[in-house]
Amino acid sequence: MEKKQFQAESKRLLEMMINSIYTQKEIFLRELISNASDAIDKIYYKALTDDKLVFDKDSYYIKVTADKTSRTLTIRDTGIGMTKEDLENNLGIIAKSGSLAFKKENQSKDGHDIIGQFGVGFYSAFMVADVVTVISKSLYEDSAYKWESTGAEGYTIEACEKDSVGTEVILKIKDNTEDESFDEYLEEYRLKAIIKKYSDFIRYPIKMDVSGKRLKEGSESEFEDYQEEQHVNSMVPIWRKNKSELTPEDYDKFYAEKHYGFDKPLKHIHISADGAVVYQAILFIPESTPFDFYSKEYEKGLELYSNGVLIMNKCADLLPDYFSFVKGMVDSESLSLNISREMLQHDRQLKLIAKNISSKIKSQLQSLLKDEREKYEQFYKSFGRQLKYGIYSDYGSHKDVLQDLVMFYSSKEKKLVTLDEYVARMPEEQKYIYYASGESNERIEKLPQTELVSDKGYEILYFTDDIDEFAIKMIMKYKDKEFKSVSSGDLGIEVDENEKDTDAEKNDNQALFEHMTSLLNGKVTHVRASKRLRTHPVCLSTEGELTIEMEKILQAMPN
Ligand code: ADP
Ligand code: MG
Repeated sequence: MEKKQFQAESKRLLEMMINSIYTQKEIFLRELISNASDAIDKIYYKALTDDKLVFDKDSYYIKVTADKTSRTLTIRDTGIGMTKEDLENNLGIIAKSGSLAFKKENQSKDGHDIIGQFGVGFYSAFMVADVVTVISKSLYEDSAYKWESTGAEGYTIEACEKDSVGTEVILKIKDNTEDESFDEYLEEYRLKAIIKKYSDFIRYPIKMDVSGKRLKEGSESEFEDYQEEQHVNSMVPIWRKNKSELTPEDYDKFYAEKHYGFDKPLKHIHISADGAVVYQAILFIPESTPFDFYSKEYEKGLELYSNGVLIMNKCADLLPDYFSFVKGMVDSESLSLNISREMLQHDRQLKLIAKNISSKIKSQLQSLLKDEREKYEQFYKSFGRQLKYGIYSDYGSHKDVLQDLVMFYSSKEKKLVTLDEYVARMPEEQKYIYYASGESNERIEKLPQTELVSDKGYEILYFTDDIDEFAIKMIMKYKDKEFKSVSSGDLGIEVDENEKDTDAEKNDNQALFEHMTSLLNGKVTHVRASKRLRTHPVCLSTEGELTIEMEKILQAMPN
């Protein structure tokens, strides 16, 4: 027998897990069942794509058995199993490293959100069990192995007997403590309820031996004891169900079960398409930004199923970058099981699905904007920047899709507004859509350059994100109105006093202006008298395409 320590990271994460993360301990069952289902997916997929393997659909199932005398709960599956190496690699280390480091840097936040963003599924068993034993036989190895652990101390591995391929996870359920009872995890009715609650749509049968008393056949008063094996779950995947049968909670549960995020989804999109291309999809717009969203580590993509069998975890081709925050899955009968990653990229069906999905996401965002403004603003705070990047990227080729979805803070409304709303409010004589760039709304408000425009009663959009002005340059015109920075030389506003005044001032002060220009040698092109200021003595303005803010950003960029 070999005894091994968990890797240091896993050890600490494990402790954290057990002590704090999940407030609902019952989800351990969801986690173990979902692992079992994943393992069956793998062997099922293998059987469908490999002629040498013949399997009968009935041989795929998950069985949950509770034994009160030994206080054990067993979750057995007929999945692909684990080799000795798999047991060490998959159950000995928490796969996504770096997560703990991240957690440390963000101690101030409560563990909840962050932890939820990486799978710690298997370890949740330790919330209810003192000892976890895994007996597994892999499809790829002749001997079976037993992995056992009592929690943070480490684990042992030894060879053992097991006839059929698959895995058994045996939990030694904790004894009750003064303030907590664990007995419920050995109760049939309770286990059934948990399975119904979280794992109803699992595609394989989840079986349980159920016992009880019932009326004897043919009798009206005599009872008999019985024990029978029941299918606990309805087995219809949620995406195949009719939308009308599903509640918002069903979608929320699916989101949590799939680890799409630890937040609640802001909106779900359930698609059942049967036009040119047949597919079902359940997509989610998350509420909060995943911690790695704006980093290189973030991987976009949707789960891809072919007729109910998972063929890819993150199919990136299904989502454009600007909608990379969308989570979810797609199931299509039109895709071949044997399709490789390379082939997928060129698959016509997949392209059609991707296009269709994008337009659905767009229209859902638009209706969110129209009908549930607050939710939209919340969405926009989390992912608005991604939309603006989307406008800027690929030379503005996606601006038509995205320009109606972006928002900026408005000087008049004191809140986020869309371009459409801005233009609709413009007085007839106003020529441009005005904007001002700066670090924050407060700072922009104090800019001398905003005075003239504000005095005219015109609305100004505040650009506080680096990307804002670059994105706007790609849009160029919105509903035929061009954008104009308040710091540009020509604001297109008629000043009340006639221009000759300025000329006079210019002539009178010619010597002063020349002196100032030479003092600011090379820093300014010229110094001029201006009618645009009210309470401020001077301001900087620019000519040409680049504004001062854009120049600052470009200069700060690494070459
Ligand atoms: P995740 O499911 O997010 O990968 P888990 O902690 O739930 O993380 O599981 C870790 C890994 O252990 C899985 O990815 C899988 O490779 C392996 N595993 C867990 N349970 C089983 C099982 N019943 N059969 C086969 N492999 C399993
Ligand atoms: Mg899991």
